[in-house]
Amino acid sequence: MRFPIRKITIHPEAAGSSVARTVVEKCPGVPVVTAARPSVDPGDEGHSKDTVFITPRKGRLLKRCPGTSSYVCCGYRVLNLVTGCPLDCTYCILQLYLNQPCLVVHADWEDALRELDELIAKHPGRVVRLGTGELADSLALEPLTDMARELVPRVLRRPEAVLELKTKTTFVESLLDIDPRGRVILSWSVNAEEVVRADEKGAPPLTARLRAAAEGRRAGYRIGLHFDPLVRFPGWERSYSRAVEAIYDHLREGDIAWISLGSLRYPPALDAIIRRRFPGSHLPLGELVPGLDGKLRYFRPLREEMYRRVYRDIRRRDRHAEVYLCMESPEVWRSSLGRSPGSTAGLARCLDAAAIAE
Ligand code: SF4
Repeated sequence: MRFPIRKITIHPEAAGSSVARTVVEKCPGVPVVTAARPSVDPGDEGHSKDTVFITPRKGRLLKRCPGTSSYVCCGYRVLNLVTGCPLDCTYCILQLYLNQPCLVVHADWEDALRELDELIAKHPGRVVRLGTGELADSLALEPLTDMARELVPRVLRRPEAVLELKTKTTFVESLLDIDPRGRVILSWSVNAEEVVRADEKGAPPLTARLRAAAEGRRAGYRIGLHFDPLVRFPGWERSYSRAVEAIYDHLREGDIAWISLGSLRYPPALDAIIRRRFPGSHLPLGELVPGLDGKLRYFRPLREEMYRRVYRDIRRRDRHAEVYLCMESPEVWRSSLGRSPGSTAGLARCLDAAAIAE
């Protein structure tokens, strides 16, 4: 199974690339054109999710996660091998950020490994946590590209590197025969079923994600989970408790390296896009106020209430997983989890330790 693709455009400079060959091979019957720009339908509002554009990269592929100094961030490095996503989540920030109106695959993605080697050389002896899920879902295009399957063994040749592949899909099959040597974390974005149904268009239900996680675990992968975004709606308390129960129906304490909690947040400019593209969505109707980074988010006491509640549910089932907050201040950490890493460097140290703990 994969997301439907109706058009493939290959940039002339990417025509001989192995990823172009793989995509064309895996999409028999799909029209392929060679052009310097993708052809997309006018009126798609920049969301041509059935069009793949394979192109040489522009600029660096390995970057720091764009956190902000106002909040504690996880100190992650992002590998942008693909930009764009065939899923269509109401809250997705890519609706605002992407300037290519389709799914962009960077043909010369292996250059990112050179950038990774430079980074490792600059920080000898340090763990480098990296992931591919900032401008895309890490596995949504895997059945088309096999990129994760190609990437994992290459990353494993670098003992300092820990790779996190973050997804909402169930596309783990290509990875199940690789030995991850404790250094690849398969992560799922998880949510209450009400949020999955209303605001994660195209994504599998929570239980399907958790079945895929259990499969990944059986193959030797460590698991990460991201409750992000936590959304308030009538009955959210019971729904998130049920989601935590569902997690431990599929996974055991000790299987999970880390669980992040992040509340709904987005730049004000996304508000109008959500209202236009998803007129029935309740997300913009919450009591959202600008935070220190300018993004709209729930009032602090409402966020803290959600973190406390979900954290309590997790800790009732699991004493081991590293639970952390995404983009919150040390004060919110202390009042929600009873502790704070103090800074981005402090949280990065905790996650580095959790990443190699097995
Ligand atoms: S899965 Fe992630 S990248 Fe894809 S639409 Fe949803 S939020 Fe955006």
